[in-house]
Amino acid sequence: MSRTKIASVDPHSPAQRAGVRAGEVLTHVGDHPIVDVLDYKFHTYDSRLVLKLQDGEGRTRTVRIRKEEGEDLGLNFETYLMDSARSCANKCIFCFVDQMPPGMRKTLYFKDDDARLSFLLGNYITLTNLSQREIQRIIDLRISPINISVHATDPVLREEMLKNRRAGECLSIMERLAAAHITMNCQVVACPGINDGPALARTLQDLSALHPAVESVAIVPVGVTRFREGLHHIAPYTREQAAALIDQVEAFAADFSAKHGTSLAWCSDEFYLLAGRPLPEKAYYEDMNQLENGVGMLRLLLSQAELALDGEEAAPPPPFSIATGVSAAPFIGEIVDMVRRCCGKLEGAVYPILNRFFGETITVSGLITGRDLIDQLRDKPLGERLIIPSNMLRSGEQVFLDDVTVQQVEEALGVPVVAVEAESGFDLVDAILGRDVAPCPAAAPMQEDEFYRYNPGARG
Ligand code: SF4
Repeated sequence: MSRTKIASVDPHSPAQRAGVRAGEVLTHVGDHPIVDVLDYKFHTYDSRLVLKLQDGEGRTRTVRIRKEEGEDLGLNFETYLMDSARSCANKCIFCFVDQMPPGMRKTLYFKDDDARLSFLLGNYITLTNLSQREIQRIIDLRISPINISVHATDPVLREEMLKNRRAGECLSIMERLAAAHITMNCQVVACPGINDGPALARTLQDLSALHPAVESVAIVPVGVTRFREGLHHIAPYTREQAAALIDQVEAFAADFSAKHGTSLAWCSDEFYLLAGRPLPEKAYYEDMNQLENGVGMLRLLLSQAELALDGEEAAPPPPFSIATGVSAAPFIGEIVDMVRRCCGKLEGAVYPILNRFFGETITVSGLITGRDLIDQLRDKPLGERLIIPSNMLRSGEQVFLDDVTVQQVEEALGVPVVAVEAESGFDLVDAILGRDVAPCPAAAPMQEDEFYRYNPGARG
């Protein structure tokens, strides 16, 4: 089946008004063949278009469309990419997917490395599976910004870390993209003793030479789970190692900022927590454009909560509890204290959840499973609702990473669960005050064997 076959046409859209039908295949826009979503998005931007369509019998016809510049045509295809997502060609020594326990959902083991997803959804790519033609297409279609997992610019080290002979070409591809004015945001997953210290100094130096095309660099610590048997030995960062790395990056950033007016490189929040250092002030993070790497996220959360509570005089809400990752818990506690000062009286508890599923070195909230929540909160006072950050759930679903559902957690703990936007201090304050955040849908009755699967201690 053609991947550019139209699955449906939105009502009242420009395509529907022009008579485009579901089941037809979009082959060209003007003279441009349509291969995937990038071609489609790029070539349908203009206000006057000629679409070439093919029906099931192979007959072709053309349709003329007039619309606003940039307006969506209203066509939907079988898949978002109009193609299969491209998997990565690497075997990175720090890969998180390789450290997942066996027996989880198949999709969790998929390693994507697709330039189209980088542009459309912000995914990070390594540039190791791009052909010359694809690099040229990024340039021709002006796909910008793209997010690049650099890790190291020393070609030998990068090849060793990514276990890919093409990994050493990264910097030369980036130079070509920079010359074409493609903006790049970079990520370095730092592994102690491997790509930090002098290797990181070289990486920062090389990337800074590509500024302003290289707009930002986030340095995040490697995640180490308890499932590393047979993998390259990597230890998590110690407090001293984390502090040394912060000092190195901050010194580079101060020097770069004095010359160019931007820090260029930032450590993720996790490094400050590992080092036991206070978070930098909000202004340090400039435009906060590395939030998806956890750079400045906690500082933003606190400052949004302050704004939400500015001049607020609220009545005390019903008792509540909040479950979060070990690393964010003290900051969530600070926000609960801020709300307490506004209300005068507040009955609420913050529970840091140890990650027993992946291992306790994993402290972020986004990797907490339903099973850990149930096991650790079963005997705790939870008030009238349990607030969790929504990044504990699969995007748009009521399901945790281990396939436990929100309903199962509600049943097991006997309390409604309220999921709030993890990065929003505004939403968190509203949830604490019991406003505007609807509880998750009522729990469906659970089968007995499921209940015991998730509540082993409850079987008498
Ligand atoms: S690029 Fe490396 S870290 Fe990312 S999925 Fe592939 S092997 Fe894993």
